[in-house]
Amino acid sequence: MAFEGLADRLQNTIQKIRGKGKVSEADVKEMMREVRLALLEADVNFKVVKQFVKKVSERAVGQDVMKSLTPGQQVIKIVKEELTELMGGEQSKIAVSNRPPTVIMMVGLQGAGKTTTTGKLANLLRKKYNRNPMLVAADIYRPAAIKQLETLGKQINMPVFSLGDQVSPVEIAKQAIAKAKEDHHDYVLIDTAGRLHVDESLMNELKDVKDLTNPDEIFLVVDAMTGQDAVNVASSFNEQLGLTGVVLTKLDGDTRGGAALSIRSVTETPIKFIGLGEKLDAIEAFHPERMAQRILGMGDVLSLIEKAQANVDEEKAKELEKKMRTASFTLDDFLEQLGQVKTMGPLDELLKMMPGANKVKGLNNLKIDDKQIAHVEAIIQSMTQEEKSQPEIINAGRRKRIARGSGRTVPEVNRLLKQFEEMKKMMKQMSGMQQKGKKKGGLK
Ligand code: GDP
Repeated sequence: MAFEGLADRLQNTIQKIRGKGKVSEADVKEMMREVRLALLEADVNFKVVKQFVKKVSERAVGQDVMKSLTPGQQVIKIVKEELTELMGGEQSKIAVSNRPPTVIMMVGLQGAGKTTTTGKLANLLRKKYNRNPMLVAADIYRPAAIKQLETLGKQINMPVFSLGDQVSPVEIAKQAIAKAKEDHHDYVLIDTAGRLHVDESLMNELKDVKDLTNPDEIFLVVDAMTGQDAVNVASSFNEQLGLTGVVLTKLDGDTRGGAALSIRSVTETPIKFIGLGEKLDAIEAFHPERMAQRILGMGDVLSLIEKAQANVDEEKAKELEKKMRTASFTLDDFLEQLGQVKTMGPLDELLKMMPGANKVKGLNNLKIDDKQIAHVEAIIQSMTQEEKSQPEIINAGRRKRIARGSGRTVPEVNRLLKQFEEMKKMMKQMSGMQQKGKKKGGLK
């Protein structure tokens, strides 16, 4: 998987700071030293790394500590925000011309995936955005390029405009746009010529096509696997042509992530799409935030942090709150929570993030180890419906039966029941605090 090494390293680093109630300048320094090494090892441009480390350090040391987050969590949040910013912040949109057709020029070096991406993008425009694109075969040098685009066009049932390889790309583009207008296509995707290296004649030809077609977008297709080379290629193309976006291909491969993290910063050009395979639907709009979460390898913890901060999942929170207030939280609910925990992160962390939780005694002793979740599930599943809704009826005999049924021991069953009781008690206490908070307008 892409970013694996980077994700592992960042996750280890972050783990150390996550639970900290106090983060000193030395802690931040130590963490950022490791983050720096992790990024450099992932082939991120060194200037980008330097800037990133500086920015995160400044913010982390002078941070406003939010009530609902521990300082450790706050630092992680800063890292995530800055990673997102590094990749462009918001997801960037694809242009729509108010005088159709919208013209998209696809450029890139040979082998980057330009022709394939042209087909993928046309497919996406039609499927996701309900558009009616036309493809243009203007790579007249690579012998098989025209044929390849025509084959792609057939696969997705999309018209391909071609005049063979004896007509200049400028002329092809000109006639293609006229044809697109005539046939009411709202997007024209021009597959231009690639080369093995950036060279002057290629750039001149592309400039000519640009001058004539006045494209709404110029997308550079680069191979993520080539790391810093991809960044250099993007820089040259941008200087010569003025790119509007980059499509980063082959992110399904084993890339270290350097290109994804450096391109925006170095070239000021946003990554707009990513290629995730050879198939024609293996393309996605690029979301910097989601990518940051993926790179951090801890989308789970981050979503918890967001939740604590913004009470995003209001519906679920309300439901849970009601259950807490009315003390009707059952072992079934607990089981359901455990299911969610697997995707969200440890339950005790979730509980600690609830406003007011730091004031609840005993919370720190409540430890639910992720590894034990499967055991706990087995135990609850071995209970009868009656036992699940009224755990107080579970006597010694029933405990033995449940232990046998789940393949666990009686002390484990005892421990689970005790934890569940503690949790219920704590929830009652916390719901009281939340109610108070509400009156003050502290919660949404
Ligand atoms: P071009 O020379 O830039 O037009 O490159 P092509 O479109 O011919 O692609 C070169 C090779 O890369 C082909 O084998 C494609 O199937 C493959 N390819 C393109 N995009 C992706 C991608 O996102 N992931 C993977 N794994 N392969 C890709």
